Amino acid sequence: MKSIISILPDHIANQIAAGEVIQRPASVVKELVENAIDAGASKVYIRIKDAGKTLIQVIDDGKGMNAQDAEQCFLRHATSKIHKTDDLFNLSTKGFRGEALASIAAIAHVTMQTREEEAETGTQLLVEGNKVISKEEVVCDKGTSFEVKNLFYNVPARRNFLKSNDVEFRHIRDEFERIVLAHPDIHFTLSHNENEILNLRSALLRKRIIDVNGDRQNERLVPISEETSIVKITGYVIKPEFSKKTRGDQFFFVNNRFFKDAYFNNAVNKAFDGLTQSRTFPGYFIYFEIDPSKIDVNVHPTKTEIKFEEDKNIYAILISSIRQALGKYNIAPTLDFEREQGFDLPYEMLNQPAKEPQIKTNPHFNPFATSQSRSDTFRSSGKNNTALNKLGYGENKTDEQDWKNFYNLDGIEEQQQEEQQEMTIDVDTQQSDQFIIRSPYLIFPSKTGLMVIHGKRAFERITYDEMMNEFIKNPIASQTLLFPYEKEISSGEEVIWKSHSSLLKRLGFESEIKKGMLSLNAVPSILQEEAINDCIDSILENLSFAEIDKGDIAHVLISNIAASVGKSKVIPANNEVVRNLIEMLFQCEQHTYTPGGKSILKTIALTEINQLF
Ligand code: ADP
Ligand code: MG
Repeated sequence: MKSIISILPDHIANQIAAGEVIQRPASVVKELVENAIDAGASKVYIRIKDAGKTLIQVIDDGKGMNAQDAEQCFLRHATSKIHKTDDLFNLSTKGFRGEALASIAAIAHVTMQTREEEAETGTQLLVEGNKVISKEEVVCDKGTSFEVKNLFYNVPARRNFLKSNDVEFRHIRDEFERIVLAHPDIHFTLSHNENEILNLRSALLRKRIIDVNGDRQNERLVPISEETSIVKITGYVIKPEFSKKTRGDQFFFVNNRFFKDAYFNNAVNKAFDGLTQSRTFPGYFIYFEIDPSKIDVNVHPTKTEIKFEEDKNIYAILISSIRQALGKYNIAPTLDFEREQGFDLPYEMLNQPAKEPQIKTNPHFNPFATSQSRSDTFRSSGKNNTALNKLGYGENKTDEQDWKNFYNLDGIEEQQQEEQQEMTIDVDTQQSDQFIIRSPYLIFPSKTGLMVIHGKRAFERITYDEMMNEFIKNPIASQTLLFPYEKEISSGEEVIWKSHSSLLKRLGFESEIKKGMLSLNAVPSILQEEAINDCIDSILENLSFAEIDKGDIAHVLISNIAASVGKSKVIPANNEVVRNLIEMLFQCEQHTYTPGGKSILKTIALTEINQLF
């Protein structure tokens, strides 16, 4: 029988491949502009006619190509960006497949001019349906210019599938925005039908965002910034009150490459939880910088999806960095405190049942104001003398200055004090006998009655906040056990423990599992030996819940550790320690409830006491 298999001619194979890479004019814009950036351009000029259906021109001042490369670049799998497999895992360029130009040339009329800086003349090439029609030496500017005309001229089905010019141009603009926001240092110009749409000079990121989105955006941006050993996160979130009803400004970039990620988007939503109205979408421009070997960009042909090796950790870091930023820049205090002799108590607490504090925004906040915010003062004062140290976990001395920083707020602008009313608990350190210690309770007189604090739960809350803050920056300090802690675990528990091993390690657990026996050589140093068993039990129990949200794992684990630490604490009958404990508790944003939702403090009103008699 006659053979029936034949190899597709190149032009057909290219047309098929083109269908994947080039779906519409916007895809051409993206590929050409990305090539310009990879070529080291400092200026990129984009000229569009009829939403790209008639013409897409991209001119750059990058490194250009020599005559041979100028021809080669249109071949399939022609790339200068990877040479060996390893390069694939260390990409610093946008392109690497060598498919874009071959694809574009398969379905359009392309004219290219290119010249390397040191060459006197450049090369001009005319390519149609992957065939080189003409090649000549020309005098031209340094860099490269691509003119793409009559897109899909030979694929009528595609051409007919294109939407109206308005819609197609919107796609172009979307792609353009994703690129220019990733490269504020490059000057971009976009024109449509000879009208200049955007002319974006090289600028700092904030300015670039404003140039793209309009001046109004300026006062809405809240900077975020977090650097950890895993990832560096910078950028801006839009203040919650300006969240939109549509998914407008949601941009993630990793190593200056735009990507979409429902999982990280969920982290942002979590961070904004309770701050936005329902059915609005938080806006963000978030930039991750990460070792390229820890991500895989190769999962999608058009490369907007990216796999992260440490996605769980990054999720937790992301939530925390956004919350911190919103707290620092945007939040008025969670509670108002009223001054009185002796122990002042939160006004709200005196009159109302304790409730979870809400984050409030301050409409007058000026992000450019240089004065230090109070929360900065708190943070810096706590640096070398952390809450945990104060509570006897390490260095024991109390730093008088910290105390003053917290309560007196020296050196902070008055106006800011008015605008951002923070809690001001006026504690007189001399009056040390104002409270009664009945472990686990600490009881204080208050203006309207008595306040009772559950001391162990206060420890739990403080431990949680400290650990969470530490965890997002560095692995948690661990202590090696003299005798390894051993525990028999089921095969199911073994799977659970192993699947979270990197997170558990970051939290300070050094473990091995042998023949159904979990053996811990080191545990978080904050965890006392007598609390280990309880802690491991609750971790295993909690991680077994199938419905546990991936992003909540760090929260769950740290909550478990904190709860075990809290439970194992004995409240010493020592006024100094207790005063520090209360001070630290009130520094926690959420000091009325434990991370697990149990009440930490209650007030008993005088009226209630009266009823007893
Ligand atoms: P990739 O970008 O994946 O390498 P492309 O088909 O987009 O594949 O481009 C092929 C090659 O052509 C690139 O690797 C690069 O060497 C060269 N090239 C493309 N555009 C430009 C440009 N604007 N300036 C200089 N070289 C370019
Ligand atoms: Mg490319």
